[in-house]
Parts: sequence; structure tokens; C-alpha cells
Amino acid sequence: MGKMDWVNEEINLLKESGRYVPIRTLQTSQGAWVKIDGRKLLNLCSNNYLGLANNPEVKKAMHDAIDAYGVGAGAVRSIAGTMEIHIKLEEKIAQFKHMESSLVYQGGLLANLGTIPALVGKDDLVFSEELNHASIIDGVRLSSAKRVVFSHVSPPDLEEKLKTERSTGKRALIVTDGVFSMDGDIAPLKEEAELGEKYDSMVYVDDAHGEGVLGDHGRGIVDHFKIGDKVDVEMGTFSKAVGVMGGFVAGRKELIDYLKQKARPFLFSSALNPGEVAAVMKSIEIMEKDDSLLKKLWNNSDFLKEKLNNLGFNTGKSKTPITPVIIGGEKETVELSKSLYDEGVFASPIVYPTVAKGTARIRLMPSAVHSREDLKYAGDKFEEVGKRMRLI
Ligand SMILES: *Cc1c(COP(=O)(O)O)cnc(C)c1O
Repeated sequence: MGKMDWVNEEINLLKESGRYVPIRTLQTSQGAWVKIDGRKLLNLCSNNYLGLANNPEVKKAMHDAIDAYGVGAGAVRSIAGTMEIHIKLEEKIAQFKHMESSLVYQGGLLANLGTIPALVGKDDLVFSEELNHASIIDGVRLSSAKRVVFSHVSPPDLEEKLKTERSTGKRALIVTDGVFSMDGDIAPLKEEAELGEKYDSMVYVDDAHGEGVLGDHGRGIVDHFKIGDKVDVEMGTFSKAVGVMGGFVAGRKELIDYLKQKARPFLFSSALNPGEVAAVMKSIEIMEKDDSLLKKLWNNSDFLKEKLNNLGFNTGKSKTPITPVIIGGEKETVELSKSLYDEGVFASPIVYPTVAKGTARIRLMPSAVHSREDLKYAGDKFEEVGKRMRLI
């Protein structure tokens, strides 16, 4: 027995339970269609909601920034890595989000890992939504605060937990995804934010899937509910609708000043590179100027959902473009994904532990760069394979 033999045993266990997900390699840019293993496939997996990952203006902005500033920021922000374009981007985000100030991180995951432990510590409490993203869960773990989980989209359960637990901690933070990434439903953030006020608890929303999708010109969930004065921390990513890479938090000026002294990914990891910063800036400018991509995204997702529902598939409780096709069993779901792949549709299976056992699904991500024909093609293939597998 070698001391690393356990790794193969673990991999075999994953394979036996149908939880081993093959990782495909793209030979093209992200877009409506991609090439994998030399074959063209309809891409319904990417979070590139608005198609900005391959937008010519955004690409040009990145090229220009590389010419002006080089490819790397060269240091952590607090030592010598802050360039004027980082500051400009932070001003832009604050203005776009109607918040006082913002702080850019190197990714959305890092924004959560950096910010949550700066807000709460071992004497404090976190009220965390049941279906929160892994990066929130890890941020809460890193903080050492006591975690109280409240039920999915349930302000009454949150209030119950606040009533019984709030007095056991000094500071408290209510944290939730804005749009739930595996189901596409939306947090009842207005009610949750009101509870934050009533029970003296900070309110933090992770709007990774709301950015570029919800609110006026894609400003996100806080704008969607018009509750800017009630949410203390709005966190987001530039890797989804914005199409690039990076993350941020927006909030009051003093909060951002404080995070610059405390957040560890800001202090101990090099700054986002200039090309990414400039590309993000351009994407936000495009979103601000014109909401036609946003409208196309919603039209496309309404069309796809209706088509799948008419066929008899269960798309759950989604209120956003995220379109789960809930199958249930893990093996069937992986098999459905494989058959769709063979038919030219790239749609990844999502299984336990990413979602609860018995709710395995294919998650479809329609975008603004899909055409009606693309989505009809997807529907036809779901019909063909679904009938063959006796799922519908
Ligand atoms: C994708 C995602 C993140 C991570 O963002 P990255 O910028 O890709 O690191 C964080 N939170 C939620 C809810 C997400 O969906």
C-alpha cells in the first residue's frame, strides 16, 4: 500500500456513485457555440450571460490597457500594485451600483473569503442562507464566527433564528446569495434587510448571478428591489455577466477604507492585472449605455423555459435566466448530459454535493448571444433524448 493510494480509492468512489464529472476542454472562445474534441457544440454551460467575454470593444480595451500598463500589476495593492485604473474602476462600480464606494478583488470567491472574516470574528454571529454559495460558506468558516443557518428564502425562519440567537453574539451578519446559482430563484432581500435593521445585524448580499441580469441596466438585486439604503455590503463578480475576471464589494466609504486595512486577499495577493481591470470597465460601460443585451438575455431565457416546460421537463422555481432541468437521480442526469453531448448540446450535469441528493439536474445558461434557432435546437435535442430515456 502506497501512502497516496487513497486518492484512487476516492476517485473510484466518485465514479461508482455517478458523481465524477468529466471536465471538457474548449478549443474556441466562449460563445453560443464552442468546439470540443474537434466537434461544434451548442454551449449552454457558461455564465457569460451577455456575451461580453468575447465582445470586440471589451477585447480592445484589454489590449489597450496592456499597451499602457503591461500585463501584470506587479505587487499587492497595499505595497505598489494599485494603479490609477484600479481606482477608476472602483469609482465606476460605486457609481453604477449607487453605493458610496467599492473595493476590487481578484475574484468573487476571494471577495467573500476576504470580506466576511473582516466583518465578523469569534465573538460574533453569521446568519447564513441554507443554499449559500461555497465561497460564502468558506468565508464564514475562516471568520470563526458562530454560524446559524436559516431556511431557503424564508424571512420567517430568519426572524425566528434572530430572535433566539441574536443576543448570543456581539456583531451579527446576515448573508445570502442574491440569485441562487443552482435554482435561479431570488432571495427575498427586502424582507431580510428589514430584519437586519430590526435585529441590529449587518446585511450582505452576494449578487454574482444578479449582476448584469437583474435591475435597471443589470445593476443587480439591490437596484431590482430599490433597497440601497438597507444593504450594507453588496458583493459581486466580474467573471459572469461582466465576462472577465475579478470580484468586488460595494458599501459605505468607511467600510471600504477598513477593508483595505483588513481584507487578506487585498493585503496578501497581487492585484488584478491591468488588462482585466480595463476590460471590466468597458463591460460596465457597455451595460450602462445600452440594455439591449439584457433584454435579449431575458427573451431568450423565457423562450427556452417555456419550450422545456411544454415538453414536460421540470425547470423548478427559477425566476431568472438560470434554467435548471431537474431530473432527480445522479446517474440518469449524467447519462442525459452525455447523450445531449453526443447530439451536439453542451449542458453540464449538477449533482450532489453541489445540490441536494435526489435533485440532480442539468443546468442551462441561455445568453444574449444565442439565437432563436440555437434554443430551438436545444429544445429539439432535449425532446429527442428525453423521450429515448423515458424522462418525458
Ligand atoms: C461564481 C460565484 C462566485 C465566485 O465568483 P468568481 O469571480 O468566479 O470567483 C461567488 N459567489 C457566487 C454566488 C457565485 O455564483
